[in-house]
Amino acid sequence: MRLAMSGWRGRAVGYEVSAYLLDGVLVDSGFPGARRALLGAVKALAPRGAVITHWHEDHSGNAPALARLGLPLLMHPQCEATLRARPRIGAYRRFVWGRTEPFREGVTVFDVAPLEVVATPGHTADHLVVWDAERRIVASGDLFLGVKVRVAHLHESPLGLVRSLRAIAALEPRILLDAHRGVVENATAMLRAKVAWLEDTMGEVHALAASGYSERAIQRRVLGREPLVGLVSVGEYSKRSLVRAILREEPRQN
Ligand SMILES: [Zn+2]
Repeated sequence: MRLAMSGWRGRAVGYEVSAYLLDGVLVDSGFPGARRALLGAVKALAPRGAVITHWHEDHSGNAPALARLGLPLLMHPQCEATLRARPRIGAYRRFVWGRTEPFREGVTVFDVAPLEVVATPGHTADHLVVWDAERRIVASGDLFLGVKVRVAHLHESPLGLVRSLRAIAALEPRILLDAHRGVVENATAMLRAKVAWLEDTMGEVHALAASGYSERAIQRRVLGREPLVGLVSVGEYSKRSLVRAILREEPRQN
C-alpha cells in the first residue's frame, strides 16, 4: 500500500514522496510537513513497526513522532546518530520539506521477518532497503529514483550506489516501491539499466578529467545544463555535485 504525500511547496518544484506499507511494516515516514496525514494513516493501519530508509528529511521527517507513539523503529545506526545530531540542511530542502525535529526518543527495535533489511549505501551512507523475498518486492527508498538521474547531493557515493544497485538487482526483484517514482515494474531490468548508465557516465567523467577538462566543462558535456533544482539548491543537489562526487572517487578498474 502506498501513502503519497506532498505539500504545496514540494508540488511547486515537482516533488512528492511516498511511504509504503509492506507486510505490516511502514517503510519511511514522509517529510515533517506531512505529519498529520502520516500519523492519521498510522493510527488507521496499525503497522507493526517502521523502517526509516535513510536520514533525508523526506524519509525520516516523522520518525520522532512515530517513536513518541511507541511504534517500533528500525534504521541504520548511522541514521539514528545523524537524526540525534540533527544536521543542518540547505535552505531549499528546508523550504521544500521542512526540517526534521531533533530525535530525542528511545527506540524500540523490532524484527521485520519475514521481510529483510539490506544495507545499500550510495545515495547516503546509511541507506537501507526492505526486501520481501516471497513476493520479490523491494521497498527501495532513494536507491533507484530513475535510470538517468543526472543530479546528486555532494555527499553521495556513485561507486557505492553502483555496488548497491548490483546487489539488489542480483535478488531479481519484480517490483520496486520507489519513494519518489512510485511503483516501478520490471524492477531488475530497470536496476541494471541504471547501473549501465551510471557506469558509462562515470567513465566519461573520469576520461574527460584525465584529458584536463574542468568540472564545469565536464558537467556541460556529459550531463548538460543545470536544471532548476540545481540552481535553487545553490548547487547542493545538482549536476555539478554529481560530477564532483564521481571525481572524488577513484576511477573503476575493470
Ligand atoms: Zn534521499
